Amino acid sequence: KFFSKSLSLTSDLQRILGKINKSKATPREIYAIAITLGKIPDWQDKLSKTNVEDLIDLSNIFHDSKKIVNNIIEKINHDAPVNISQGSIIKNGVNEELDDLRILLKNGKNWISKYQEDLRRELDISKLKVGFNKIFGYYIEVTKTHQHKIPKEFIRKQTLVNSERYITEELKSYEEKILSAEDKILEIESKLFYDLCNDILNEKSMIQENATAISLLDVYSSFALLSIKNNYVKPKITENKILSIQQGRHPVVERLLPSTEKFIPNDIEMDANINQIHLLTGPNMAGKSTYLRQLGLMVIMAQIGCFVPAKKASIGIVDKLFTRVGASDNLAGGESTFLVEMNEASNILNNATDNSFILLDEVGRGTSTFDGLSLAWAITEHIHNTDGIRARTIFATHYHELTALSGRLDYLRCHTMRVKEWRDDVVFLHEVAAGAADRSYGIHVGKLAGLPPGVVDRAEAVLKTLEVDEQGSVMRDLAVELPLFENLIAASAVAASTEPTPVERAVDRIIPDELTPRAALD
Ligand code: ATP
Repeated sequence: KFFSKSLSLTSDLQRILGKINKSKATPREIYAIAITLGKIPDWQDKLSKTNVEDLIDLSNIFHDSKKIVNNIIEKINHDAPVNISQGSIIKNGVNEELDDLRILLKNGKNWISKYQEDLRRELDISKLKVGFNKIFGYYIEVTKTHQHKIPKEFIRKQTLVNSERYITEELKSYEEKILSAEDKILEIESKLFYDLCNDILNEKSMIQENATAISLLDVYSSFALLSIKNNYVKPKITENKILSIQQGRHPVVERLLPSTEKFIPNDIEMDANINQIHLLTGPNMAGKSTYLRQLGLMVIMAQIGCFVPAKKASIGIVDKLFTRVGASDNLAGGESTFLVEMNEASNILNNATDNSFILLDEVGRGTSTFDGLSLAWAITEHIHNTDGIRARTIFATHYHELTALSGRLDYLRCHTMRVKEWRDDVVFLHEVAAGAADRSYGIHVGKLAGLPPGVVDRAEAVLKTLEVDEQGSVMRDLAVELPLFENLIAASAVAASTEPTPVERAVDRIIPDELTPRAALD
């Protein structure tokens, strides 16, 4: 908490350095450098007392920046304005000439107010005013009723509806003094300010290295605070191809659920040598996507050094995390939604390794049922059976037919999101369990989303007809009968055969030396 509070008061040093480089930094930003760097000694003190080796190392990365901090604090006013042209940037006592001019300016302004008092008394015009504008400079303003009291030597400058404005020799000579003092002050302040900016730029690399150390501190302290606040645990990082998580949660969904709902934690026990592919079926709205994403997020969080939202976690190092989630398109780039889906799938198959982690949230939904199912089927077999890409994979799908694969692929296991049917309603339990779903309850979700009742009723009627036709079971039977890895088997059968083919025999009979060109052509 100490670090996060302290860091929240710091500024982005790299950004300010960039602005100084372009002569665009404001006095406030320069002061912010001092505030930020000025916190380093306190951080170092706290870090070195932690007894944690990495944090003690971090405390030693910081460079001493006292000189630059003092330089800024000695020169810049803590409440300096945003713009240099507004003045009052440089503290009193920094430059003698500047101090003298400021006194002159102050006296000049005092003189003006005394002059106004005197004139009011002498001319007996209580509302006489000495004002200033950018066009005429200082002027004396009286209302028309008092005009007759104005002495002859006053010079009329401007007539307004109800008043007249005058100047005097005396007023003009003071004006000159004041205005030239103001210009000079601005000039000196700007010079001192830009000199200081140059001093800072001369220390650029030191400041940049401190900025890098501050980023590290920021990351560590944010991780720590988040982990304590949200009850995360330290994952065990291993070199096996496992993913073992007890009571894992989605770090964002668990925070955003309404207070009436509780996030249901879920487990996973995955070992690429035993259950490499988890085929996850379950109704719409059951929590498949959430589960997939929470696992992906936990893998990333663990690998960037953060604790994870779970009760216990062992995560085998992942070299690449692949996801195929959601439907996106690239219509302007000449790619249809389905082509994008296939591009993503082929990227996964071409680049995954044994140490990767693949999350497939539906594959093959953007085409006809049979095309999609066949692709999903072949992709699953490929990941399961190709040496070198046997990545840990979770495949969420509504193709319930794919669950037939579990009997035929040694390292594939079926999981499902549990639901309870209660009267005419469906309750989503958001729990992952072994097994397969046989229904998607898509119509129920359509009803929840507010489809017109007529559409829902009609959909239910159509579904019943389709179910009576038992399309599903026909497909399942087909799937079971489909020869596994047929293309691989066929290819290897040809390679394994030692019998010469008719073409090979014909080629063997040819004696090239005796061939006429015509016969060779034939
Ligand atoms: P579909 O197949 O329709 O895409 P799905 O099975 O992928 O659905 P999700 O989108 O993951 O379902 O989840 C639907 C909603 O259920 C989420 O918006 C979330 O509010 C809630 N939910 C998901 N998982 C959990 C959980 N473990 N605990 C509590 N609520 C959850």
